[in-house]
Order: sequence, then structure tokens, then C-alpha cells
Amino acid sequence: MTDQTDDNKRHKTRMQQQKAKVDERVANAQIEKGILIVITGNGKGKSTSGFGTVARAVGHGLKATVVQYVKGTWPCGERDLLSKLGVEFHVMGTGFTWETQDKEKDQAAALKAWEFSKRCLQDPNIDLLLLDEITYMLTYKYLAVDDVVAALSARPATQNVVITGRACHRAIIDIADTVSEVRPIKHAFDNGIKAQKGIDW
Ligand code: ATP
Ligand code: MG
Repeated sequence: MTDQTDDNKRHKTRMQQQKAKVDERVANAQIEKGILIVITGNGKGKSTSGFGTVARAVGHGLKATVVQYVKGTWPCGERDLLSKLGVEFHVMGTGFTWETQDKEKDQAAALKAWEFSKRCLQDPNIDLLLLDEITYMLTYKYLAVDDVVAALSARPATQNVVITGRACHRAIIDIADTVSEVRPIKHAFDNGIKAQKGIDW
């Protein structure tokens, strides 16, 4: 028998073993429910992941709604595209807190965005809710973590929620189903490369 045939046989056996394991895990995962996903960490890719999930849901004809905490004072490619496809957006619209430098105004805008978010979290017609950058509202204590946890926990059973932002509060991580941390290995900005349309917003 040639070396190549031996190699093929070994590969086939390994793949059969792997398929048996994957099939078993798929067969064991039978619970159907809306999940809470958290995308946190300091690397680039949190909001793009959230919006990627919105695009995926919309592609299947599901109803998605987006609340953008923090951002909103500059154009945003995903908002322009997805709002044309029927995705409702609520934009806090105050920009970064180090730009506005007005705590009262920021908190009032955060609370308004949160009131809208709470209504969404009670609406069974919404299949996917993206709360983009909401973690900072908890870091700055603009929103009470207990309120956010209570509203997330009481949402309709089939509703999926994606939360993005750095340093996600432990209490949210505790009730989440899927949590990913995006870790920066490199970022173009650190080498002086300007943020780009279509890449960064
Ligand atoms: P993106 O929207 O690109 O997925 P993100 O949501 O993970 O980024 P944010 O902190 O919300 O991260 O990003 C705000 C802006 O800062 C974006 O334009 C993003 O490209 C940029 N950015 C993200 N991570 C870093 C980083 N580690 N260093 C510098 N800039 C970053
Ligand atoms: Mg982001």
C-alpha cells in the first residue's frame, strides 16, 4: 500500500470520529429559545459582529431593531443600509462622552434610549434586538445594572439580543448565553492609519 493510501485512510478514520462527535453534540442541543449574546473586549469587531447578526436575521425575513448607544453623530454605513431594509433604529446621537463633555445631557439621552430599548424588550414581534455600545452606559452608571438585567431576563422567550461594548458588566455576562471577547492583537489606528469609511463606520 502506498503512503498516500495510508494517509487517506487515516484521514477518513479521523474525520469519521470527528463527525460522530459533532453529530452527538448537534443531537444534544435541542433547546429552542432566544439567546443573549455579548460581544465585548478591546479589539475591533464588536459592532460589526452585532450588525452582521442583524444582516443575517434580516436575510431570513426576521424583524430586527437596533439601539445605538453612544454613536450617531456621524454617518454610519450599516444604519443607512439596514434602515432601508426595514430595520428600526433608535440613535442616542450624543457621540462619545469625551466629546460632549456634558454628563447630564448624556445621561438624559441614555435614559431615553433605554426607555425605547425596554419597549423593544417587551415586544414579541422583535426577533433580534441589537443594543450597540450599551456597556458604557453601565460603566458610567447612566443606567442601573439591575434594571437592565431585569428587562433582559423578562424579555419574550423567543427574542434574541446582542449586546456590544468594552468591559461588559459581570451581571450581564452572568445571564448571557454566548459571550465572546474580541482581543486586539494589532490595530491599524495604532500605526497612524486613519479610520475609514466602509471599514470603521
Ligand atoms: P467595529 O465597529 O469596527 O466593529 P468595535 O465595535 O469593536 O469596532 P468600538 O470601540 O465600538 O469597537 O469602535 C469604535 C471605533 O473605534 C471603530 O471605528 C473601530 O474601528 C475603532 N476601534 C475598535 N477597536 C479599536 C482599537 N483597539 N484601537 C483603535 N481603534 C479601535
Ligand atoms: Mg462598537
